[in-house]
Amino acid sequence: MNICVALRTEAAAVRRGTTVPVTRVGMRATHLRRAQVGSGPIAMLGVAGGVAPQVQAGDVVVASEVRGDGLTVSCPAAPLLAGALRRAGLTVHVGPLVTQSRMARGKDFAALAMSGALAVDMESAVVAEGVGDRPFVAVRVVTDTAADPLLRPTIVRNGYRALRTLTQAAKVVEEWGDVAAQRTIRLAAPRSFCAGVERAIDIVERALDRYGAPIYVRRQIVHNAHIVAALERRGAVFVEELEEVPDGARVILAAHGVAPAVRTTAGERGLAVIDATCPLVAKVHNEVRRYAARGATVFLIGHADHEEVVGTVGEAPARVVVVDDEHAADRVMADDPDNVAYVMQTTLAVDEAERIAGRLRERFPSLVAPRSDDICYATSNRQAAVREIAGDCDLVLVVGSANSSNSLRLVEVAQRAGAAAYLVDDAADVQLAWLRGVNRVGITAGASAPPYLVDELVHALSGLGPTEVHELPAADENVTFTLPREVS
Ligand code: SF4
Repeated sequence: MNICVALRTEAAAVRRGTTVPVTRVGMRATHLRRAQVGSGPIAMLGVAGGVAPQVQAGDVVVASEVRGDGLTVSCPAAPLLAGALRRAGLTVHVGPLVTQSRMARGKDFAALAMSGALAVDMESAVVAEGVGDRPFVAVRVVTDTAADPLLRPTIVRNGYRALRTLTQAAKVVEEWGDVAAQRTIRLAAPRSFCAGVERAIDIVERALDRYGAPIYVRRQIVHNAHIVAALERRGAVFVEELEEVPDGARVILAAHGVAPAVRTTAGERGLAVIDATCPLVAKVHNEVRRYAARGATVFLIGHADHEEVVGTVGEAPARVVVVDDEHAADRVMADDPDNVAYVMQTTLAVDEAERIAGRLRERFPSLVAPRSDDICYATSNRQAAVREIAGDCDLVLVVGSANSSNSLRLVEVAQRAGAAAYLVDDAADVQLAWLRGVNRVGITAGASAPPYLVDELVHALSGLGPTEVHELPAADENVTFTLPREVS
């Protein structure tokens, strides 16, 4: 690995943070091109002017691309490096970095900001020009901005602060260089969105188009932070309870389903309800109502605190007993052991849920099973697909949010298949240490995680070296659900 800097002060700051050889390339193009010697990854470090309004003195800019005179060099690893720098406690922005041959002044900053650039320097593009297919990153610490220019007395304080930050950043850049390598990526298929999640998101988007903002949504429409943030930007307002919704407003019920009491409250409040409950969750609710109407005790295999389970229990609270695990299956009781049935949360690990059902069957020979599987097709297929890749991978990355039950189950399935496996909301969550010594990386995504996050993760890993990407299809999916009449 080669770390390049332009100035002596920058070189000193970087050397305090790393044992990697640091090449001082100066500021003249002929000298800068000397940086392209050797082999392996190249990092360009130093200070810069911050041009975008959100960038402050002391912040770090990691270049998503470096723009120079008629040239743009992409830096795919930027999200991985930015995530690592944030975990080190730094304030980090990811975006275009522009190199120009003369010192940027006030009016330049405004023009560069208009072009979408975050920061400006005088060297990175000249180094980037010669990197070829070697992994390359550019990391700049901001010393001055349009509001806080170089000629103010604050430059001394800003300069010292920037150099200290550069020392911290250098340590992290060294970690990036350590894990740069050629890799094989195995993509599980199917992965990412299921029909129920696509339908729920479609319902919110159509409601916003048809009725205008704000549209209230009780709880996260699907368990994914990126989806919720994107819908919030369009005018959706997410609330925990109906009390937060103004009288007479329009409210969407999330894909995980609700207890009947929630619908009753909405009716009493005069709220216009649009129901985004997944039809496969609604099927489990119907089963509970049918069994409870016969006076049966209904064992609900699932996690008691999950929203879907809370909603399902609400169908018949006096008759439903939640069974969390095999130990609970050994202890649960029924009023009449001959009048018992079971249902399942739709997003459980298939093998684990079957073991729990088996224990219940041993204890209650008359136990009635659901007519068809409660664990939905999307959950089963994604688990089969991750099992298919995990046995052949050193590391499996599951894209999904921490409150997504089916994403968490994918991590467990991959771990049981022998791989190290982690849940990541996006590429920035990947810890560089996980990649040390890893040549084969498996990637999948939970049913609530958008496909573009997987594409971004694959792209980010390509910033560590050449990647070969293979997809291993485990099942075909062609399920679709109709929309409620309010938005169809
Ligand atoms: S994971 Fe299954 S039950 Fe949940 S929304 Fe998707 S299809 Fe419906």
